[in-house]
Amino acid sequence: MPRTSVIRKTASDFRVAPNWVDYAETRNEFSWENARRELAGMPGGGLNMAFEAVDRHVPDKGDCIAFRFLGADADRVITYRELAALTNRFASLLRGLGIGKGDRLFVLSGRIPELYVAVLGSLKNGTVACPLFSAFGPEPIATRMTLGEAKVLVTTEQLYRRKIEKMRGSLPGLQHVLLVQEQGAQAADIPGTLNLARLLAESSDAFDVVPTRPEDMALLHFTSGTTGTPKGAVHVHGAAITHWATGRYALDLHPDDIYWCTADPGWVTGTSYGIIAPLLHGVTSIVDEAEFDADRWYRILQEQKVTVWYTAPTAIRMLMKAGEEVARKYAFPNLRFVASVGEPLNPEAVWWGKEALGLPIHDNWWQTETGGIMIANTPAFDIKPGSMGRPLPGIDAFIVARDEQGQVRIVEEPDTEGELALRRGWPSMFRGYLNNEERYRKSFAGDLYLTGDLAKRDADGYFWFIGRTDDVIKSSGHLIGPFEVESALMEHPAVAEAGVIGKPDETVGEMVKAFVSLKSGYAASESLRMELLGHARKRLGAAVAPKEIDFLPTLPRTRSGKIMRRLLKARELGLPEGDTSTLEGQS
Ligand code: AMP
Repeated sequence: MPRTSVIRKTASDFRVAPNWVDYAETRNEFSWENARRELAGMPGGGLNMAFEAVDRHVPDKGDCIAFRFLGADADRVITYRELAALTNRFASLLRGLGIGKGDRLFVLSGRIPELYVAVLGSLKNGTVACPLFSAFGPEPIATRMTLGEAKVLVTTEQLYRRKIEKMRGSLPGLQHVLLVQEQGAQAADIPGTLNLARLLAESSDAFDVVPTRPEDMALLHFTSGTTGTPKGAVHVHGAAITHWATGRYALDLHPDDIYWCTADPGWVTGTSYGIIAPLLHGVTSIVDEAEFDADRWYRILQEQKVTVWYTAPTAIRMLMKAGEEVARKYAFPNLRFVASVGEPLNPEAVWWGKEALGLPIHDNWWQTETGGIMIANTPAFDIKPGSMGRPLPGIDAFIVARDEQGQVRIVEEPDTEGELALRRGWPSMFRGYLNNEERYRKSFAGDLYLTGDLAKRDADGYFWFIGRTDDVIKSSGHLIGPFEVESALMEHPAVAEAGVIGKPDETVGEMVKAFVSLKSGYAASESLRMELLGHARKRLGAAVAPKEIDFLPTLPRTRSGKIMRRLLKARELGLPEGDTSTLEGQS
């Protein structure tokens, strides 16, 4: 297949008429007020995300399948009517425990039905939901639950014993732990925990959804910065309007779709697009409880007759690595649209989609703070492989630069590198970093939200990702804060200082690599390296821990004492060291 710089779309590319075909006209006609009218709303101007996602569909689509969970042993199908009843039970249960509006509920589990029921049930009760990634270790979990003032935790017995039990004492605000028993296991009585299944069975399946306001806090998603603790991005019930609009315009959802979002709800994509957006459109979602496996994934696409697939560059690269012969064993006649998010999607991957799946991959861009997709390639429009696409209806995106006085100005000239900024006002924009007003304020310049990403816009209005303005690491699509990793390493008695970088990796984008210097009395050795790797993995979990550790006599620091990660990275990659005038010891 000849690899051109543009993949042109023609009418023969669509089996289903796309939700929009005229870029300028749809953007001109679009308004968030009109989008809001697509949702039912609640008495008195209220809006509740879970009511819109679930209960709204019961009269017309009650018997349609909301979720099909593919478990290790058996599948479980939940219709919209059943989901309404289950989430009512969960909300009743919370109310019975005295948990109410604004209280925080965390979920730590794999992609099991209870996670989805707990998040939606919390939202119905006005309780703020925060799903955590189950591959986090005890430290990232404790940090987030403490910052988020967790009152309730839903987790599995196994995860509780492995990650929570020992540190429970450090979470005095945690009032209730609701445990999911493992399949077939005896309901063990673990002190200080409640049995979720038993309580759900005893709770009423009738519940009056709390008529939350659009500005009431609904979800909390933690994201990482360069320094300090993770930041809790606050999202509100009104975000559902963006989730609905982007489900329509970015993911092209149609009522009969079978949709598969491979992201875990521990990350924002898995919540916004693995739970809320597909339900808002009344489609059937596939949830695979297992981890990546090329054969399994192709089989799911084929057997489940997936029509719309939302996945990530790392997964696509892993499929590419598995080889074309694996793909050729399967056929995907139902698949009509494939989208990807989270990291740069290389042009080869876009083309690979066309060859292996019969469809190009459509890259899109957003971040935890934006709550929903902002820039996208969508079915009706030409793709420029390597570009993230164009801003969606309701979204104005810019490239900005700072002048000498530090003033932010919009760069009009195309193909100029600068920071990507968005005009504030879309409904899913984060409303704060929890307890960190100053950091939140710093993210804005006037009515522009500054994303922290470097990009450029071409003359056709397509945006191209260049990199980050900070040191955060993107590994397998997951944002990792170097500070969190450095802090865990520093807890080891041998470590004097630690610096952590993202080292480019063909498959996972960036791999977490640490550099440490040792305290006197300790000597670098292979066994110490293994010990440090194990130490970090135990505390941080596999998702965050470094994969490589190197020893250095000292780490480069600025004169003000900050470790120069940029320099560590340049040295690691053999790149020019750039401006080192602030390096300590430099005259
Ligand atoms: P997160 O908040 O964890 O979703 O991470 C958001 C960050 O991921 C963005 O600020 C970008 O740096 C990166 N990102 C997301 N989507 C893309 C994309 N399509 N291309 C390149 N980078 C992306």
